[in-house]
Formats: sequence, structure tokens, C-alpha cells
Amino acid sequence: MDELDTPVLDDHLHLDPRRGRGMAAVEDFVRAGGTHLLVVNKPSWHLGVEADAGVDFRSVFEETLAAVEGANELLPGRAWPVLGVHPGLITRLTDERGMEPSEARELMCEGLDAAAGYVRDGRALALKSGRPHYDVSEAIWDASNDVLRHALDRGAALDCPVQLHTEASEDLIEIAEWAEARGLAREKVVKHYAGGRLAGPTPSVISRREELARAAERGEPFLMETDFIDDPDRPGAVLGPKTVPRRVGWLLEEGYDEAVRNAHVETPRRVYGIDTVGTLTGQRA
Ligand SMILES: [Zn+2]
Repeated sequence: MDELDTPVLDDHLHLDPRRGRGMAAVEDFVRAGGTHLLVVNKPSWHLGVEADAGVDFRSVFEETLAAVEGANELLPGRAWPVLGVHPGLITRLTDERGMEPSEARELMCEGLDAAAGYVRDGRALALKSGRPHYDVSEAIWDASNDVLRHALDRGAALDCPVQLHTEASEDLIEIAEWAEARGLAREKVVKHYAGGRLAGPTPSVISRREELARAAERGEPFLMETDFIDDPDRPGAVLGPKTVPRRVGWLLEEGYDEAVRNAHVETPRRVYGIDTVGTLTGQRA
């Protein structure tokens, strides 16, 4: 294996043991030097679930919980689930299923409430929400922001972090302010698929060298992710599961030791309250 003397956390990836590589992807991650994972549920419709009510999301969440259990058997550290409703669902509900934006909003908020139940029970670590990254009508945009703010409400009530999928941006201060207005610290709002520079939430930086170098130079709290989608129909569409450990090796070679500690020990503790050192108990591959 690659010799990495540090915990290595991928802050956002998907595992689909039913259709994708599942545990083989976790084994790749471990062999490359990875130790900890935050596993995010796939979009519900990718798993064949056409939700009509909040409870319909439970089967989606249960699949993620099962994948996390499997990953925990393989990791020298730990995996945790992140559960929520993908913001792209609103387009599917309104365009393909003929719902009004307000109906779609209600259904997505119910799905988030179901996810929040798992956080409350200690079965999930964080929530996932956001808004479309593509152009939408004003009605869809407004409904999406209502859903996002609902997730922040739930996050504040449970004091749990919220991962967000949003448009590409280096300034999401407005969302950080929505969180703070509800009593959720802005650092607990995590922008997934972020670049190396971001004002407002904590960036979960997509693990490309130029973005990581930018985040490392900036010196502010950040996380690292692949957004591995584990979709057999789209091989190579995103970064693979070995990428975070490999980029950690590269950051260390470049002398960015502080940044590695930031992204894999300090920021995970600040944002999620997880101890990536204390949970590093198993044998490394
Ligand atoms: Zn994702």
C-alpha cells in the first residue's frame, strides 16, 4: 500500500452494492490508503424509487445504511451515512410527473424530515440538500430555496451538519447567513463539489490538484471528496474511489502537511464532531 501516516477521509461519495462496484470500491479506497468515508445516498430515482410521500425515501436511506455497515467491515477507520433529498428531484417531479412546484417542495421537505429522523436516532451523521446547479424557472428556484432552508431548519434543530449540492460558486454567504439565522453554525454547512475557494459554507473540495492546491494555500478549513457515483452506466464520469488517498499522498509530497491535517483531522472534527484519529483502530491494508 501507499504509506500514509494520517487518516484519509472522502467527504462525499456514493456506494451502490446492488448495481455498482459497492464494496470493491471500498477495497480500492483502503488499498490506496483511505480510512474514513461519508457515504451519501444516491438520488432516489436512480434506485428506482418514485416517491409519493416522505416515507418512500426510507428504502433509499436503508440501502445507504447497509452500504455503510459493509464499508465498516473493510475500513481501518469508519464510514458514516449522510442522508437527504437530491435537489434535481424537483425537476423530475415537475417535468416528468406533472407536479406543481409547491407539491414537489412538500414532498422533498417530507423526505428531508424522514432523513432527519435517522439523524435524531443516531443512525446518520448529517443531512444532504441543496438547489439545482442548472437553469430553472423562478418558481422552481424559489421552491428549491424553500427546501434548502427547510434542511437548514432541521439541521439547526438537531445541531447536525448539512451537505449542500448547489450551483458552482465561490460566494455562498447568503446560504451561510440563512443557516446562522436559524441557529446552525455556518461551518456546519458544507458545499459539496466545491472549488478551492469559497466564502460562506465549508468547502468539500473536489479532489483535482489545482483546486486542492488553492484550498491548501488559502489555509481555511476544507474537506476533500470524489463524488464517486458508483454507476455502472457512467464509468469514469467522476473521480474514482482511490483519488482522495492519492491526492493526500501528492499534497504531502508537495509539503502541504498542514492542509492534510486540516482536511482529514481538524475540519472533520469541527464540522461533524467526528474523531478520525481515535476511530483509526483497524489494520491498514
Ligand atoms: Zn454526490
